[in-house]
Amino acid sequence: MNTKPFSTFETGSLADWVNHSVELPGLGKIPGKLFLKEHLGLTGCEISINALQPGEVWPVNHTHQENEEIYFFIHGSGQMQVDGETLDVREGSVVRINPSAARVWRNNSTQMLVYLVIQMRAGSLRQYGLGDGVLVPGTVTWPAGKRPDKV
Ligand code: ZN
Repeated sequence: MNTKPFSTFETGSLADWVNHSVELPGLGKIPGKLFLKEHLGLTGCEISINALQPGEVWPVNHTHQENEEIYFFIHGSGQMQVDGETLDVREGSVVRINPSAARVWRNNSTQMLVYLVIQMRAGSLRQYGLGDGVLVPGTVTWPAGKRPDKV
């Protein structure tokens, strides 16, 4: 049991993400996906890190039971299809999808498509943005010898 008030996990560089894999029921080992819930002890959402090779199509068109998903594309370009509507996506694109919508995506480019998928129960968010933060009084000290280049 982790007694610290935080958890950490190293995903490797973006170029290494394609080396992760998951077992999909009926499809076997699928490369380029890793769920972080178990690695980090996540309690409010699931996050996966993903990399899809050039020319590849994600093998399952799927919906969800109760979770909405956010696809955050951080490198490359490709296409998503949501309930039959095709969306072009690229580095910087963010797509939120209702649980009941069917979604699938592909990398129709010549570069690796790298993205995060965040899923959480639709309608569960009660506080957000700066609204959930609380300022901690006092000054912060940092270990010696680890100063940032610029202050
Ligand atoms: Zn999904």
